[in-house]
Amino acid sequence: MPADPRLQHALERLAFSPVLLVCMDFDGTMAPLTDRAEDARALPAAGAALAGLNDLPQTRTALVSGRALASLRNVAGPDERTLLVASHGAETWLGPDARPLELDEQQRGLLTVVTETISRVVEEHPGTGLERKPAGVVLHTRRAAPDVAGTATVAALRALEAIDGVHVMRGKMVVEASVVTASKGDGLATLRDVTGATGVLFAGDDVTDETAFTALTPGDVGVKVGDGRTCADYRVPDPEDVADLLGEVLRLRREALEMPLLDRDGLGPSMDE
Ligand SMILES: [Mg+2]
Repeated sequence: MPADPRLQHALERLAFSPVLLVCMDFDGTMAPLTDRAEDARALPAAGAALAGLNDLPQTRTALVSGRALASLRNVAGPDERTLLVASHGAETWLGPDARPLELDEQQRGLLTVVTETISRVVEEHPGTGLERKPAGVVLHTRRAAPDVAGTATVAALRALEAIDGVHVMRGKMVVEASVVTASKGDGLATLRDVTGATGVLFAGDDVTDETAFTALTPGDVGVKVGDGRTCADYRVPDPEDVADLLGEVLRLRREALEMPLLDRDGLGPSMDE
């Protein structure tokens, strides 16, 4: 049960939503942060709770991540019922009929330019790394010395500023340049549409998750993981708390579904207190 009684109360109400969508960021939320991106794994309790939610009727789950789709699949090993929003919304997997991402000619040209730009920054800053994504490129500075990480970040931001049409995002020890304008908030809105969700839970730890928090509507629940400024209404310290929270959501949702007349007909508990 969350330490914050306000959060517990919000979850109790959310559990009665006719169609519940549980969306989770992955790194730093479902999974503790790791030095090597490929080593990240969801905490077992968090993964089990998400799978349990997938077993329930009128209940959907999704991962909303900055990772490329292939990378997210690799580390998350998601249940096939869990929908995926990757590359901050530029790539999605919304079921077997989903269309893969396709760049137009201009976007492909821009991707070449930003890849060369970030490659030069990486060459000049030992310990930094480059990650290619289908719609962008990422500078990783987590494994560089702190002063090198700082100068690499500034160099990348300056160089990218000079390129028209590129969408730049900063996260924890990363600078990401995307040739597709997308955000986790857009991704969350898409998920809400395709699932017909009437209530959404979203948790995330990074600055890029803020667009998703702002895409929440009254009755939804947004949970910031860890420190840092946020527009989420609630906060928990770390991924262990997220696992506990998901376990609690699963318990509450089961309970709500067992109750007769779940407010499909407006007869359940009021949602607007
Ligand atoms: Mg994260």
